[in-house]
Amino acid sequence: MTRDLFPTTVIGSLPRPACVRDLILDRKKGIVTHDQAREHLDDEIKAAIHLQEGAGLDEITDGEWRRESYVKVFAERVHGFAPDINPGAAGLNYPAVIAPIESSGAIAAHEVQFLKKHTGRRIKCTLPSPYIIGRRMWHSDHSTSAYPTREALMRDCVPILRREIVAIREAGAATVQLDEPWLSAMVDSRFREREGISAPHYQMDLCADLINQTVSGITGIDTAIHLCHAHFNRRHVSEGEYDLIMPTLAKIRVGTISMEYATPVSGGYSALSKFPDGVRLGLGCVDHCDRRVETPQVVVDRVERAMRYIDRDRITLHPDCGFAPSVQNPMDLDEACQKLKAMCEAAAILRSRYG
Ligand SMILES: [Zn+2]
Repeated sequence: MTRDLFPTTVIGSLPRPACVRDLILDRKKGIVTHDQAREHLDDEIKAAIHLQEGAGLDEITDGEWRRESYVKVFAERVHGFAPDINPGAAGLNYPAVIAPIESSGAIAAHEVQFLKKHTGRRIKCTLPSPYIIGRRMWHSDHSTSAYPTREALMRDCVPILRREIVAIREAGAATVQLDEPWLSAMVDSRFREREGISAPHYQMDLCADLINQTVSGITGIDTAIHLCHAHFNRRHVSEGEYDLIMPTLAKIRVGTISMEYATPVSGGYSALSKFPDGVRLGLGCVDHCDRRVETPQVVVDRVERAMRYIDRDRITLHPDCGFAPSVQNPMDLDEACQKLKAMCEAAAILRSRYG
């Protein structure tokens, strides 16, 4: 049995217990100080580490339990944003950039430093891609004096993210993953219409170029991007098979491209026939939106479907998405734990079958 086959990882977030959700929101309101919150979160994150190690994962995160959301973390730790003035879907508000952005210390490297002290497993650290930062946190009413266009903000994010990736590497992370849900959401014509995207090919190429600039020339750390149809309250924000974006994926220079395939909204596996050569496939093989916990055999079946298109030694297993990309996303921690365990048991079956 080859341990290197079918490695298992997470996409990032685990559902946060109520006490963690409260701490993050109380910290934001100033009810508790950052130091007070950190002390409690350190204890809680030790439990997140044990949960992932117990499930059998080869690579873990801190559950993103220090963050309000996967994308807002950039605005929390970089100067130039005003919180919650940018209305988003489902009643969730985002920050908007109001001044030229400036780094104000670590965005995520401190998360890795803590993990390094408390686990011997491989460590993954996630950052939002420059494209999603521009999409989520630029608003024409608030941002034009700082950045005349969304694209100008996106481009200014690149050097800050590059410095952070180096810091994450120095802190001991094995993988940095850039989260980029909008690229895959663009396959959905209703999503494009809703978001006013009239030139999708230009946008897709811009996204790819920004990702390449962010990771180009950085060595000593594995690079990945995560694509998905995004989700809130167990519903996806977009849907559709990935054919439209496959030519763009071939232009992106990262080690792993992680995509969701367990959910039916991704439209089946056939688009994998166009998946680029020379890149690992991060295969979403557990459906975080479905309350039913998969059996290991269900997960094995999903991986074997992907193996019709992708060599076994290029496949990494993970859930479709982070279980709770934001504090506000209500998900179940016990359910997530059981799903991760089933996925790791499936990996063991696959290794014995194909190793
Ligand atoms: Zn996702």
